[in-house]
Amino acid sequence: MSGPPSGLVATLLDRLDDPAWLVEAGTGSLVEANSAAWRLCPQATHGTNICDLLEPRLDAERWAQLCDQLHDEHHTIAAHLRGGDQVVGVRLTLSLHALDGRTVVLVAGTIARSEVVTEPDRVETDWTVVADTLDEGVALLDPTGRITSVNAAFCRFVGRSEHQLLDRTVHDPPWDLVLEDGGTPDPRTSAPVGALRTARTCDGPLLTPRHVKGERPWFRMAAHPLPGDEPGATLGAVVVLSDETPGRRAAAEVDRLLGADALTGLASRARIVQVVGSLMQDIVGAASAVRVGVLHVDIDDFRAINESFGPHVGDAILLQVADRLRDLGERRVEVGRIGVDEFLVVHQADGASLAFDARLRRLAEEVQRRLSEPFRVDGLTVRLTASVGVARSPGDAATADDLLVAANRALDASRSAATHPVEFHRADHGTGAGRGLAVDQELRAAIAQRDLDVHYQPLFDLRTGGIAAAEALLRWHHPLRGPVPPSVFIPAAESSGSIVAIGDLVLTTVAADLRSWIDRSILAPEVRVAVNVSATEFEHPQYVERLSRVLAEAGIPPQRVELEITESLLVQDLRSAARRLAELDELGFLIALDDFGTGYSSLSYLHSLPLHALKIDRQFVSDLRDGRSGTITRTIVSMAHHLGILAVAEGVETEAQRDVLAQAGCDIVQGFLYAPPLPMAAFERLAHDQARSRDRAGQLRVAADAR
Ligand code: C2E
Ligand code: MG
Ligand code: MG
Repeated sequence: MSGPPSGLVATLLDRLDDPAWLVEAGTGSLVEANSAAWRLCPQATHGTNICDLLEPRLDAERWAQLCDQLHDEHHTIAAHLRGGDQVVGVRLTLSLHALDGRTVVLVAGTIARSEVVTEPDRVETDWTVVADTLDEGVALLDPTGRITSVNAAFCRFVGRSEHQLLDRTVHDPPWDLVLEDGGTPDPRTSAPVGALRTARTCDGPLLTPRHVKGERPWFRMAAHPLPGDEPGATLGAVVVLSDETPGRRAAAEVDRLLGADALTGLASRARIVQVVGSLMQDIVGAASAVRVGVLHVDIDDFRAINESFGPHVGDAILLQVADRLRDLGERRVEVGRIGVDEFLVVHQADGASLAFDARLRRLAEEVQRRLSEPFRVDGLTVRLTASVGVARSPGDAATADDLLVAANRALDASRSAATHPVEFHRADHGTGAGRGLAVDQELRAAIAQRDLDVHYQPLFDLRTGGIAAAEALLRWHHPLRGPVPPSVFIPAAESSGSIVAIGDLVLTTVAADLRSWIDRSILAPEVRVAVNVSATEFEHPQYVERLSRVLAEAGIPPQRVELEITESLLVQDLRSAARRLAELDELGFLIALDDFGTGYSSLSYLHSLPLHALKIDRQFVSDLRDGRSGTITRTIVSMAHHLGILAVAEGVETEAQRDVLAQAGCDIVQGFLYAPPLPMAAFERLAHDQARSRDRAGQLRVAADAR
């Protein structure tokens, strides 16, 4: 490696107390190492093959296999390192990175047991000593699948003694483990059997012992073949159980926090979408006519109450509203709160559509009646009215989201009528499509007239203080109306389909700007540009092809581009979205999950997606002082780290927020505290000034070193 990045990388590596090596993914040859690593293996030099440092030596094929797996996740292996004439037991965590347009592997080591230093010929016999110090469960298999050795963690995970495990075979395993859905895994397709049969590393699903009471431990079983001396021969396999409990616990905690409204304990929007979605599934499968209805309830003029009596009276009233809605009894399946003064009531029944509509109307009028009864708080008596919009399925919508949108449109109609009657959704309701159409026509003209402009907002690395990335954000300056916010025109463009043309415009602009920054060395090589991708764009059959072509034409490596997607893109068809993401990941693009925490609280899919970062939604950052948002933020950060990806916070406006985020371990921040989205020229100046001050600091360091 040559030039400044090498220095930077060496400096970063040296911050690690434990040994770390940076090696070329393709060849395994050593690019850089830190002081601890040079001390541990003094015989190594730049260019030494990492496989030669391992004992026994790793062959090129196994190295290639390891690198292949790194595309999905990082990987930890137990190994021995030859340091001079000694051999040391270590755990090596391997992860894939891009550096200067090259793919490199960071090999980070921890010494398995300090000072466990053995002579080379004792490596075989001493493995159990080392294995017992590992957090992972490890078992050795002979080529027939017989268990010949296990460590303490393995016994603990599967809840069996060493005696119960040894000499048993993985074809008829001596443990009783269940899958997440309660099913029993088939031994014929288990990871150990797969590794023995194919001589390749195999991963299995999450597992837990069947008879555990209380909180269950969850682990994943992977198996790695042990290559024999002869090519193609195996000595058996190593089975590794890694504990996934902390990650699952964090995910469950976020699910719980996101599933309920903190003030009233009612369901959140995400939970309602889940409930409605599963009820609608029943519709599809049912023989009789099952129907689902949603009431969207809005307290009229609630703001006036908060303003006249103060928020504590407002909160007390909302609690009573929640109680009155809960008391609807069997007539409601679920009640949620989705805005300050907006509630959803879900109802399900079977029968004819007219009868169902009549029931929904009675329920809605009952809601209005209950909420019109006086509320008493602190000696005050307050009277309210409520608008109600109703939508039902089948009829008004085919998905849970659309059903909620339809109820919302009906609510708009109720709000705008003088007496706020119960309104049922109708096709001619102000769907927003009419409004959207006008916006969309103007938008198409704006694309043609180039009234759209891309601004860039820098993202900063909290540890180094340097620019980590820039997010491209679209701006529309309307000749008459002035600036139109993306929150208005992006949804309109999405529903009309012109988002595809807009996406192209953003992409070609970003490609040209990035090319010019690279040519003029304005951005350091590790800085990437983030582009927002909407679901409609992403699902377009030619999306990957167009994206790759535009960047290739500008000569931009995919590693410099981060695609920001949202969870909405994953709910329709997770499998096909995951496939497309894997394709993008393979091409080298980085993928971030934007606005995280606001979407659909199922987090179980996260570990299976090739994500590079989680962006915590700015709603949580903006009220970090609130205990719940603080907890969600910290939990998301720890979950991101557990997944081995970056935690990014957007909307950072104050130093207090930055301090809380830094304390929570957040990696990257973005917000007005640092810089707003800037026109290209202004962003260039900022990046340039940053680079200059970095160079100056570097020169000072070099001068100090020379002295
Ligand atoms: P986003 O991707 O979550 O973008 C971040 C938003 O937060 C931007 O709003 C940004 O201006 C704003 N922001 C940044 N720092 C702060 C802060 O400290 N405080 C506050 N209150 N806000 C901050 P913007 O530019 O209005 O964009 C809104 C949304 O529109 C974006 O949310 C994104 O989802 C969408 N969008 C913007 N440009 C594009 C685009 O080119 N394509 C697509 N598909 N969507 C876009
Ligand atoms: Mg974004
Ligand atoms: Mg965002």
